[in-house]
Amino acid sequence: MESNEYDAIVVGSGISGGWAAKELCEKGLKTLVLERGRDVQHLKDYPTMTASPWEMPHHNQIPKADKLQNPVVNRCYAYKEDTAHFFVKDSEHPYVQEKPFDWVRGYQLGGKSLIWARQTQRWSKYDFEGPGRDGFAVDWPIQYEDVAPWYSHVERFVGISGSYEGLDTLPDGEFLKAWEMNCVENELKDRVNAHYKDRKFIIGRCAHLTSPKDEHLAQGRGQCMARNQCYRGCPFGAYFSSNSSTLPCAAKTGNLTVRPDSVVHSVIWDEEKGKATGVRVIDRITKEEREFFAKVIFLNAAALNTNLILLNSKSRRFPNGLGNDSGILGKYIAFHNYRGTIAANYEGFEDKYYFGRRPTAIMMPNFRNVKKQEMEFLRGYMTFYSAGRAGFGHAATDGFGADFKAANSEPGPWGVYMMIQAETIPKLSNQVSLSPDQTDPWGVPLLQIDVSYDDNDEKILQDFFEQGEEMLKVGGCTNIRKSDSKQAPGLDIHEMGGVRMGRDPETSLLNGFNQMHLAPNVFVTDGACMTSTGTQNPSITYMALTARAVDYAVKELKKGTIS
Ligand SMILES: Cc1cc2nc3c(=O)[nH]c(=O)nc-3n(C[C@H](O)[C@H](O)[C@H](O)COP(=O)(O)OP(=O)(O)OC[C@H]3O[C@@H](n4cnc5c(N)ncnc54)[C@H](O)[C@@H]3O)c2cc1C
Repeated sequence: MESNEYDAIVVGSGISGGWAAKELCEKGLKTLVLERGRDVQHLKDYPTMTASPWEMPHHNQIPKADKLQNPVVNRCYAYKEDTAHFFVKDSEHPYVQEKPFDWVRGYQLGGKSLIWARQTQRWSKYDFEGPGRDGFAVDWPIQYEDVAPWYSHVERFVGISGSYEGLDTLPDGEFLKAWEMNCVENELKDRVNAHYKDRKFIIGRCAHLTSPKDEHLAQGRGQCMARNQCYRGCPFGAYFSSNSSTLPCAAKTGNLTVRPDSVVHSVIWDEEKGKATGVRVIDRITKEEREFFAKVIFLNAAALNTNLILLNSKSRRFPNGLGNDSGILGKYIAFHNYRGTIAANYEGFEDKYYFGRRPTAIMMPNFRNVKKQEMEFLRGYMTFYSAGRAGFGHAATDGFGADFKAANSEPGPWGVYMMIQAETIPKLSNQVSLSPDQTDPWGVPLLQIDVSYDDNDEKILQDFFEQGEEMLKVGGCTNIRKSDSKQAPGLDIHEMGGVRMGRDPETSLLNGFNQMHLAPNVFVTDGACMTSTGTQNPSITYMALTARAVDYAVKELKKGTIS
């Protein structure tokens, strides 16, 4: 008989859920991971990991019928024939767009950890201080020092490649060998870094094993081969995913039970006991209903789905969703503004080549409003760039015979590509709610998403265009072309908030340990917990907050303050 009682339940098996499971299991708790999607086993279930384009029916292109049926996911750059099986199709999981919002999801064991781009930067003290100092959202209940040891804890396990720079705007971590810049990237970096006192381009930091340590080899993972086909699942386990790293480690303890195809409908609130006791699950395939119980519950369904589960967890005590006396559950959603890109040419270095497909870019930590408010807009942005030669095979558009072949065996001119990753301000008006009349095939209300850009986002974008152009000129680029994709929020895939952390139950849902103020044995450690967005790629922060919250939860369980 399958047990329905555990010490801990984790909802979702992606980046944050995998971490919750590993830490809970390693601390001795019998842990049930409930995952709505299918099972995906490392290596066995990566069908395209070594496929060549000519081995795929459409040579790695998406057929037109799919594009018409699934316009949202088709706007994601990583959605191709070789990765399509790891992405949610719009047609199968609809939601309500009150305003355009591209919601990109991965419903399977491992979640989006299989398909993320693996860029990982720590937040700085300026990011945690931001809302309190600049008077937006609500003050963070924690600061950089609270999270720093947990960043180290997760970085050592994950394996992060990066360079030591000593920047207070982007603290160093526990790094493996850094990736190298090519000659044009180096030239641009040297010129820009010498020109500006407040700006520094550095090599990107990412979750790739460039020089694996014993700890990584013991996980069964190996060195990154710079194939850059990561989104298919890596045959070497060289990038971090739940499937290759956290879940196998959790399983080794003997404390893990994973239940795929388990759609969590809501958290159960026991009116008599006055506490959350478990979760209701609908079987994805049979639609049968089940209940599972535990002393502690971690919600890690990814930011918006965690909002959905909590909003749907209605009881006599909490008619508007679990812990939602304040009415702010689902509100103050924010994301990253990715609209701006700049392309340019670089003349020279035609006799220089480079090797491999490096899985990261060059990055510049935010330099706007860092230590005080000084611009016409709030907060700032991170800048990324990379340089490369136009690909082989693009040198000649037509021709025949030996000349054609020769023209195609030389790389083309150097080009530079720059992009923005800007903070957005969490606002009351950016929110999600439950549809009053539409449900999905599992009886769960559809999520209504009402999120948009504002004037602050436009001003940041203009500043990026001005500063980006100037930096590219300083760096020696020519033919600079700016572009505003005008893409909808969501396509950044960094949606955050709705169940934010804070000090006061009137203005926040979670305390400084990601624990619900009004349901103390429920923890939220995915992007839903974020009070503000920073300018960094967010997932490493979710991992650190998760490990920290588990440590706290287990101590509190032992003390008996939660049960
Ligand atoms: C193309 C792409 C590039 C990205 N690049 C980066 C990057 O470079 N750096 C970075 O930091 N982040 C990046 N991200 C974002 C990153 O993937 C997410 O921040 C991260 O996966 C969030 O972790 P999570 O655990 O919250 O959610 P997920 O990894 O999405 O996992 C959530 C899991 O919960 C499951 N679930 C959902 N609802 C339910 C339910 N009701 N019941 C049971 N299970 C449920 C889902 O099926 C899923 O498995 C990228 C994402 C994509 C798609």
